Amino acid sequence: MLLVTVWRMAPTGGSTLHLTACWQGRRSGWSYPWLMPAATATTAPAARAAKVEESRTSRVRRARRISRKLAETYPAARCELDFSSPFQLLIATVLSAQTTDKRVNKVTPALFSRYPGAAELAAAQREDVEQIIAPTGFFRVKTDSIMRLSATLVERFDGVVPDHLEDLVTLPGVGRKTANVVLGNAFGVPGITVDTHFGRLVRRFGWTSETDPVKVEHEVGALFPKAEWTQLSHQLIWHGRRRCHARNPACGACPLARLCPAFGEGPTNPIDAAKLVRTEGRA
Ligand code: SF4
Repeated sequence: MLLVTVWRMAPTGGSTLHLTACWQGRRSGWSYPWLMPAATATTAPAARAAKVEESRTSRVRRARRISRKLAETYPAARCELDFSSPFQLLIATVLSAQTTDKRVNKVTPALFSRYPGAAELAAAQREDVEQIIAPTGFFRVKTDSIMRLSATLVERFDGVVPDHLEDLVTLPGVGRKTANVVLGNAFGVPGITVDTHFGRLVRRFGWTSETDPVKVEHEVGALFPKAEWTQLSHQLIWHGRRRCHARNPACGACPLARLCPAFGEGPTNPIDAAKLVRTEGRA
């Protein structure tokens, strides 16, 4: 790896700035970590956040460039929960809390063949439901949640999952994240799903510094056309599950290396980084 550093004075007359170009071999090419105060040219994430103010136009352009790269990298990005109706997706999303989509997909065929709709699940024997969903963890709480949710659907919506955010979030245990998953994937209504991966990545990309999910949703939503929101959510979640992990992101094996202000938060050596790449998500 070859590092080339150019020094110059900050426009504000304060600290000295530098631009580092990093050659990572023929496979990865050059990457350009952002202009940073010299004192912060370390791998510390907090220090890295102190980068030069970016105009809105440049942030939109950069965000869309990253999104195009993600689309190229993950052309098959989609919701990783199996479902064949809005009701199934709603229940599967509730079950996916604190576990993997893969584990949920293992239990839902049995659950939905026994209880195909809200009326059936609301009237189920709870011990039976507990037994079926046990592999997803927290099965007593989750049984309560999905049975109460089903009963409310029957009482207030004739057993039909509503297709409006305002109605969905009134259901017990359904927040904006779950509602947007259902809207985007079962009803084709564009929605941004701010889960743990999405929030971490958009902050690493410098698209927002907000941590409140609703503010993140609005700030990131403003950078993209509405029609792209659902797919953007899938791309970011896929990238978070496969490369841009919370700890040790695979920076040296990341197609976004040239575009990402957080490049260097994980190993930049391509061989070490490649070991961190998952071919499928922790789904
Ligand atoms: S893996 Fe590294 S370079 Fe890639 S998006 Fe995450 S922090 Fe940025």
